[in-house]
Amino acid sequence: MATKKKTIRNIPQERTPMRERDPKERAKNFEEVACGYGLEDALRESERCMLCPDEPCIAGCPVGINIPGFIQKISENKFRDAYDILTDTNLLPSICGRVCPQENQCEGVCTVGDSLEPVAIGRLERFVGDTAIKEGWINIPYIEPNRHRVGIVGSGPAGMACAADMAKAGCDVTVYEAFHQPGGVLRYGIPDFRLPNEVIDAEINNLKKLGVKFECNTLVGRLFTIEQMIDEMGYHAVFVGVGAGYPTMLGIPGDSLNGVLSANELLTRCNLMRAKDFPDFDTPMPPARHVAVVGAGNTAMDAMRVSLRLGAENVYCIYRRSRKEAPARAEEIHHAEQEGIQFNWLTNPVSVLDDGKGNVRGMRCIRMELGEPDDSGRRRPVPIAGSEFDFETDLIVYAIGTNANPIMGQTSKLKLNKWGYIGTDEQLATSVAGVFAGGDIVTGAATVIEAMGAGRKAARSMKAYLGIRDPGLPYVGVGGPGTLFGIDIKEKNFARVRIA
Ligand SMILES: Cc1cc2nc3c(=O)[nH]c(=O)nc-3n(C[C@H](O)[C@H](O)[C@H](O)COP(=O)(O)OP(=O)(O)OC[C@H]3O[C@@H](n4cnc5c(N)ncnc54)[C@H](O)[C@@H]3O)c2cc1C
Ligand code: SF4
Repeated sequence: MATKKKTIRNIPQERTPMRERDPKERAKNFEEVACGYGLEDALRESERCMLCPDEPCIAGCPVGINIPGFIQKISENKFRDAYDILTDTNLLPSICGRVCPQENQCEGVCTVGDSLEPVAIGRLERFVGDTAIKEGWINIPYIEPNRHRVGIVGSGPAGMACAADMAKAGCDVTVYEAFHQPGGVLRYGIPDFRLPNEVIDAEINNLKKLGVKFECNTLVGRLFTIEQMIDEMGYHAVFVGVGAGYPTMLGIPGDSLNGVLSANELLTRCNLMRAKDFPDFDTPMPPARHVAVVGAGNTAMDAMRVSLRLGAENVYCIYRRSRKEAPARAEEIHHAEQEGIQFNWLTNPVSVLDDGKGNVRGMRCIRMELGEPDDSGRRRPVPIAGSEFDFETDLIVYAIGTNANPIMGQTSKLKLNKWGYIGTDEQLATSVAGVFAGGDIVTGAATVIEAMGAGRKAARSMKAYLGIRDPGLPYVGVGGPGTLFGIDIKEKNFARVRIA
């Protein structure tokens, strides 16, 4: 029997809701807020995909996931096939399904979204990724080892993606990580209530199964340099994916008082150093009753919601523009509002107030109004004269952006751009032969999926540099002199057999 063609009228009209924990209860603990789809939810939501011939969602995904392909497999109850399609392009479906800003990517251009709410692509991706973790699925190809050694600096999504592709190509891959646990921002920045540690552990274990080795507690640039990796340690190629975790401070009077932290410091202490598990872990975290977080991006939302869970009575968001301009995902702002964060839009800090003993006692702010658009196209915030006011706070957290850590530039010959990020060509090759770079350290703060895409792109360039056939590339110049069975004889590691 022919399947009925799907139209906007005959698909389920409502987007399938996902259960979330009650805001009052969840604001007291670090349990995951969004509970994910069950089987029935996923099957129903998959019915909403119309399998559009022009596939706009694929173009909207930074790594070009075959979205209608994997959703169709869900609707056919073929979850393993859905996983195979997803992992063709995305190494971390459980993670991306949780943290990608889908509303600006695939879901933002989904055809269904023209008339109804778009297909919940992220929730379906998470469903498949979580099913794979539960079932222990992993796609490990037959790997023919070659003689190449590859060093990866930084274990965030960029480093993980590059490591996976190079290990699959047969290289001996070692990842060096400064912290005591791998994962980058996924581990130290994004809190457990958005991305549980077990999910990160599962993805890292998959990398280990591919043969990737991790050396933690290793600050490259201090223990050894990038040049030493190539010249003395025997690495044939190196990927630098060290992120952009260097905090920005406001530069207002009182910045150096006790009780002023960067968001990355607060989040690292809480998430990676487990201050949240006090007294089982003795990481110091000043107890705070009134917390003011400056900024309104994803990092600010995480810092505020973490502060609430650590026991603060009042948590304020201080942001100089309006809600409309806030860079955080709409869902994150919504969750923060539900949990009781007090938003002060159009408010700018003027100074941090001192208690006379070197500690924070409060903050002085000024009200703002929106003027003409600035270079970014957003309306410029302008102070309203005479509108200064003081309020009480004992912890102030700056979440106003980050920069490149200067260590790489100071300790290697890598060329940097004028902002201090590593300069690369289109193929992500740096100024040092055999060294590639990608992720936030090249682009500045971006997203998980973009970092992952950069890691994969750098891996393709690395394979070309090392003369390894990339099974993802079409055969060119088949036949003729210098080829064996149609493959360039300089290319290694072209045999691939997938075992289920
Ligand atoms: C709090 C927070 C929340 C975020 N939320 C989201 C979100 O919801 N969705 C989203 O898409 N993106 C989000 N982002 C952005 C996203 O996490 C980053 O764009 C992404 O992680 C960048 O990946 P990366 O691999 O380039 O670097 P990172 O994830 O920063 O990883 C770099 C790693 O390199 C290590 N390293 C640094 N220097 C050295 C050295 N010298 N030697 C050895 N190791 C070193 C670091 O310790 C780190 O582990 C968030 C960022 C933050 C800070
Ligand atoms: S645009 Fe939306 S409806 Fe169309 S194929 Fe993609 S997910 Fe399905």
